[in-house]
Amino acid sequence: MSKQVIKTYCGKICEQEGLGKPKISVRNSTKTSWGLCYTHIDDSNTIRLNKGMLLHPKLLKKYCGVDLFDVLLHEVAHLKHSRHDKEFWDYHKQLLKKYSKLKKEFMREFTK
Ligand SMILES: [Zn+2]
Repeated sequence: MSKQVIKTYCGKICEQEGLGKPKISVRNSTKTSWGLCYTHIDDSNTIRLNKGMLLHPKLLKKYCGVDLFDVLLHEVAHLKHSRHDKEFWDYHKQLLKKYSKLKKEFMREFTK
């Protein structure tokens, strides 16, 4: 199941980054706006993802210009930097570069 894939990959990345083990919660968002791509980390260290994104990764790409994996890294980056400041985006960029191979693997897994 797709949620399991996300959990596995997120766990791998967080472990490598020394960010602990966040919980992952997937829910139906009542705000279905695609502009609202990202949901955020709360203090219980939970990454909340919009179910729509998981069901329609292609729409996410189309309307938000990002891959699901990018969203995942975005959320992972928030475990380290809570705000969208320069440090955050630098770190996000770093992650994207570092895990580009993993991303290919993830996307393959996810679209099969
Ligand atoms: Zn964010």
